Amino acid sequence: MDVLISEVGPRDGLQSITAIMPLAAKKAWIAAEAAAGVREIEVGSFVPAKHLPQLADTAEVVAFARTIPGLTVAVLVPNARGAEAAIAAGADKITLPLSVSETHSLANLRRTHAQMIAEARAIATTIAALPRQQRPHFEGSLSTVFGCTLEGAIPDALIARLAGELAAAGCDEIGLSDTTGYADPAAVHRLVKLVRGVVGDDRLTGIHLHNTRGLGLANVLAGLDAGLTTFDSSLGGLGGCPFAPGATGNIVTEDLAFMLDAMGIDTGIDLQKLIAVRTILAESLPGEPLYGFLPDAGLPRGFRSVAAAA
Ligand code: ZN
Repeated sequence: MDVLISEVGPRDGLQSITAIMPLAAKKAWIAAEAAAGVREIEVGSFVPAKHLPQLADTAEVVAFARTIPGLTVAVLVPNARGAEAAIAAGADKITLPLSVSETHSLANLRRTHAQMIAEARAIATTIAALPRQQRPHFEGSLSTVFGCTLEGAIPDALIARLAGELAAAGCDEIGLSDTTGYADPAAVHRLVKLVRGVVGDDRLTGIHLHNTRGLGLANVLAGLDAGLTTFDSSLGGLGGCPFAPGATGNIVTEDLAFMLDAMGIDTGIDLQKLIAVRTILAESLPGEPLYGFLPDAGLPRGFRSVAAAA
């Protein structure tokens, strides 16, 4: 496998829609996507159920996902308390978002930058106290890093400082997250270089992109050029964008997997099996729009998958 596609639909997609997917459908979705070759899935978020009833069953989803061999079970946590729940449930990977826009951080999680760094430190300390085999991978994700709907552009100097503080707090990895869909290919290049310059190449390998303004796959290409190897996406682009009707939320997993495969990059994913997983979403979320070009257009005649050849 050359590039890891990290499916985030069960977390980012489901949290963006009002309908609640039944637990049985979540399990079927995750199992089917893993069977199609997806190696990492962000299955939920450990936030209070009153804030996100769509993800209230995350502990049960994690327990199920852990039974799938070879699958990295990832979750999002808003703070150290959420991380404790994630560890108790047995998550393999924990992501703590840190909004580089302090206004957004206060509005979203009611915490300043200093308070969020303290949460990161507390989580790293908890993880370090676990036996080595039980330690989840801990990622600090710089969100709104390409710009914020409240503050606009965020100064590079602040982004660099926060990346350094997350690394010093004990995060194994620092991620970039285009929460607002503001990224463009040049900005991807610039920020990967900036943050890698602070934390080192091996501690920034992935990016979380949205397709709000149609630049999602172009931004992936820029990320590939810059040396990134992990890309977040969501099956059917689930969730959409409330501000831009017709626009997907995350980039579409099917289209991303197709682009990489067509370029000769092995993702380990069987495209036909992946497309078939959409049926589970269509049946369990009636009326919810699903996006993607590949599912409608189909594979080109004579298409030869690198995954199948490998
Ligand atoms: Zn997102």
